[in-house]
Amino acid sequence: MYSGSKMNTITTEEEKKIFQFLKSHGCCLRCCFRFIGYRAPKYYFNPFEFAVQLSYANTKDETSLEAPCIICLGVLQDKAQENIVTKIAKKVNEENYDCTTFTCALTVPVSVKLREYILYAYMSKEETLDKSALSTLKTKLQNVKDIWKSFMIPKLEEIMCKRADLSTPSPFLIEVFLTYADNETIFKELMNKYKGGNNKQKKRKCSDNTFSRKDIETMLNEMTDEQLMQQFTISQIVPETFVHIDNISCSHNSIFIGGRYSKLSRKLSQTPWFINGEKKVETSVQDLLCNPIAEIVKAESIKFLSSGREDVDVRNIHDGRPFAVELLNPRMTNITSELLTYLMDNINQSTKQVQITSNLKILSRLDLKKLKEGENVKTKFYRALCICRNVNGDLPRLEHLNNLKNIKIIQKTPLRVLHRRPLSPRTRVIYEMRARWAKPHELKALHTAAESTDVFFILDVKTQAGTYVKEFVHGDFGRTNPSLCNFINAEVDIVALDVTGINLIWP
Ligand SMILES: [Zn+2]
Repeated sequence: MYSGSKMNTITTEEEKKIFQFLKSHGCCLRCCFRFIGYRAPKYYFNPFEFAVQLSYANTKDETSLEAPCIICLGVLQDKAQENIVTKIAKKVNEENYDCTTFTCALTVPVSVKLREYILYAYMSKEETLDKSALSTLKTKLQNVKDIWKSFMIPKLEEIMCKRADLSTPSPFLIEVFLTYADNETIFKELMNKYKGGNNKQKKRKCSDNTFSRKDIETMLNEMTDEQLMQQFTISQIVPETFVHIDNISCSHNSIFIGGRYSKLSRKLSQTPWFINGEKKVETSVQDLLCNPIAEIVKAESIKFLSSGREDVDVRNIHDGRPFAVELLNPRMTNITSELLTYLMDNINQSTKQVQITSNLKILSRLDLKKLKEGENVKTKFYRALCICRNVNGDLPRLEHLNNLKNIKIIQKTPLRVLHRRPLSPRTRVIYEMRARWAKPHELKALHTAAESTDVFFILDVKTQAGTYVKEFVHGDFGRTNPSLCNFINAEVDIVALDVTGINLIWP
């Protein structure tokens, strides 16, 4: 038979030789199986039974296999892993996650890979494997993490009563970090030589005891098997202890809840206002909306997102402004429509300053994009109570405003925000206006005493997003041009402003 026809296969004889070689040098049975490329989970659930069945082990072996494995350091050994299942379950239980699925990520000591290569080197020398057989064997190697998952996940599912969902994957992630006690002191010297590639400066900078997977890969690429064997004998790398748990960490993806709010106060800022760490306002739109939600869903923290914002003294009435709340690392994740209704009622009853005006809804990340994009493309509607002062004689004419359409205005950064964000002048469009004289009841809530020479009118305006409406009305000392002052040829100021509509389908 041509040797070529055997290129991609390992014969049963060879397989047996390799298995015996690994086992005699202190590999656990699961490592032996993954080296010869066995994939089926059944081999890993009960490796001893299968090793005996395949006559790769006999019943007398059982106790001799309890030393730490020379390759996986115990990652795949029941003796080292029996506590891990209960520790993970305890941690998840303590943190109170209600998610019914989970996904699990494992971090193993970086030297596992190095150990695999040292064993390959000796195996090919002592068992006289040719180059192609060795490379075939290397492609068959099953990843230590995959094997760990194949026999650990069913145990975790059972003890936690949660289903593993690795493909979607589950939004609930359990991360398990396994480390090796003396952190590979025997490899330290060699690894330091290769650390950070060949860059000497980099090497000096990070002379701690940690090595990245990348360092090991660089090193293995540059070393021949002979060099590897010169550095280490098998007996030198025999471990004395098992891996242990360095950390278990749990996290759940953010959940987003969206809705619309109206703001009915002229003394409320959108976000908390701090000066030198001191809260300057009692509360804010953000606090009033987020705090009740955070408390009920037990999120680690919460972020407030909205499509634009209104000034402290501006109300937002009618349909309200689109907003979203991001729940970071929430423990309560089964957010039902009943719970959303409860959250809305809870917020609406707790304050008169802010009200939720739509149903709350769970959002996807795509929805959020819409919220951000909507900030720039949407049109907005405002109602302004305006004043003309010192009117002696004829009233200014308002009617012609109703006929103006799509007026381009240029706005320099308003004086009131200049200290925060000086920007280059922007062009905005006033799509439409409606103006009429104010009715007596509309002036009732006025806080300033009106002079007999003052006249008031109501302006409804439809604008492009990002227009400074206050400045459009009073002109901002000529910084907005043209302004309403120019159109009615009088000195105009704004008394009160309401946002009456934001054109975005939401939530
Ligand atoms: Zn092992």
